[in-house]
Amino acid sequence: MLPITILAFLLPALSLAQDGSISGPATSPEAAGYSCDASKCKLPNCNCASTSPPNGLSPSEVPQFIVYTADDAIQSYTIDSVNQFLAHRRNPNGCQPKMTYYTSLNYTNYTLVTDWYVAGNEIADHTMTHVGSPPNGEIDGNLIALNALAGIPFSAIIGFRAPYLNYTADTLRHLAAARFTYDSSTSASIPVTDPNTDAYWPYTLDNGLANDCLNIPGICKGEPQLPGFWEVPMYAFFDNRGVAGPHLMDPWLDEANGASTVNDSATLEYMKNTFTAHYNGNRQPIGLYTHPIHTSTTYPGVTVSNSTINMINAFLDWAQLQQNVWIVSTEQMLAWVQNPVPISQLDSFSPLKCSTPQVNQAICDGIPANELGLLSHCAFPDFPFYTCYGCPEVAPTPGNPNPPQDTSNGQQERFRVPANCSTPFWDPIQGQCICTSSSCQFQDNSRPIGPNSVNLTGGGTGGEFSSGTASPTASFVPFNGNGALSSLPSGIWPAIILGSIGAMSGWLTAQL
Ligand SMILES: [Zn+2]
Repeated sequence: MLPITILAFLLPALSLAQDGSISGPATSPEAAGYSCDASKCKLPNCNCASTSPPNGLSPSEVPQFIVYTADDAIQSYTIDSVNQFLAHRRNPNGCQPKMTYYTSLNYTNYTLVTDWYVAGNEIADHTMTHVGSPPNGEIDGNLIALNALAGIPFSAIIGFRAPYLNYTADTLRHLAAARFTYDSSTSASIPVTDPNTDAYWPYTLDNGLANDCLNIPGICKGEPQLPGFWEVPMYAFFDNRGVAGPHLMDPWLDEANGASTVNDSATLEYMKNTFTAHYNGNRQPIGLYTHPIHTSTTYPGVTVSNSTINMINAFLDWAQLQQNVWIVSTEQMLAWVQNPVPISQLDSFSPLKCSTPQVNQAICDGIPANELGLLSHCAFPDFPFYTCYGCPEVAPTPGNPNPPQDTSNGQQERFRVPANCSTPFWDPIQGQCICTSSSCQFQDNSRPIGPNSVNLTGGGTGGEFSSGTASPTASFVPFNGNGALSSLPSGIWPAIILGSIGAMSGWLTAQL
């Protein structure tokens, strides 16, 4: 039984499709019909769609953000994949970059969601079962299950991305009604150097959408009107065909310049060119929007291209050598847009800081060293997972996102995270918040950056990229969250790998 159970961990890729590709302009001024009075629409709760930085800042006062996101299930493989690009880096303030994980729940290992959140990353909603144009229950159920089984506070889940980037006007209306802060499903599909670029800074929908107007019915020309609800466009890269050669998600999987095969050097070149156009222009953010499974080196049976991994690291190394470049989560970038301080004041800007909860008691709290032996293993046949917060009787579904806890074998019910205790301080076994004094407050680990410091660049690995390099240049520490498959007895691996080859070959065919 064990190999079959384990094999279920290996199937998430089967649920993936290549989401989010665009092939040309997704909007036009005529289709957008957008107007917004900037004298009435003011930060922090209103912002007109504009290609210029917020609050009238000049580009030289604005940081260049690289928003880093990942989509779909959270597993040890996918966390490893993200870490190989981020774990060794530092932003100009000395903090390790944070990122946003748009999390769907099939095949997600809930304890790793807890760990990733407690480590400072943003957890956001990507529906429960990964469906486009999602019914409300898919969106709400994701929130409820992530809160119940991963201990993510409701207040922390503020963002949404639609699977396959397929959303409707009603999707956005529901998100606003459910008090999400932002959606990030739209495309900025026209280069910043083109006169009619749609690379707007994040904006509120007080005057409707201005992106995707040619593609989605019932949006733009003032719709949907959702005051205070933010749209964070996804900014495409463009190869040497310009607007005819956009690359939105996982650009490294695409052929560049209309070629018939993937060429990492060509990809790196256009990624640099697009970055430079943003950096030397109005500094609209740029994004690495990833599906980490495609670059996972720990996913059994899959061979990824080391050249591609090296290329991505080379891009980030190159970008970080330039002044005022920050790798951030969507919520960090949006916090800056809502309160856009010039770079001379970034040292005191708290959303970009990093902090580590000071907890060393043996409680199940999202800090891997504390959790040993405390996790519940929920052995559902389709996708077994681990959690700090007690196994449900049945796997969560949109119709029943928070089933009763399973106490059929005499297990003690666990206590879910309450609203007044943050995740790393909550003991779900005793039902206690251990933070009762200033001694257990968060500790700020960020390093001040002086106004106009000479060196405001982050730290990369420094390796030069050359196509075809045999091994990755970046060193990273594999993520050792509890419940990761790496803790299995070694003898199990051959069975897993053999068992997964059939599944994987089907998946690869589907991907290509
Ligand atoms: Zn997805």
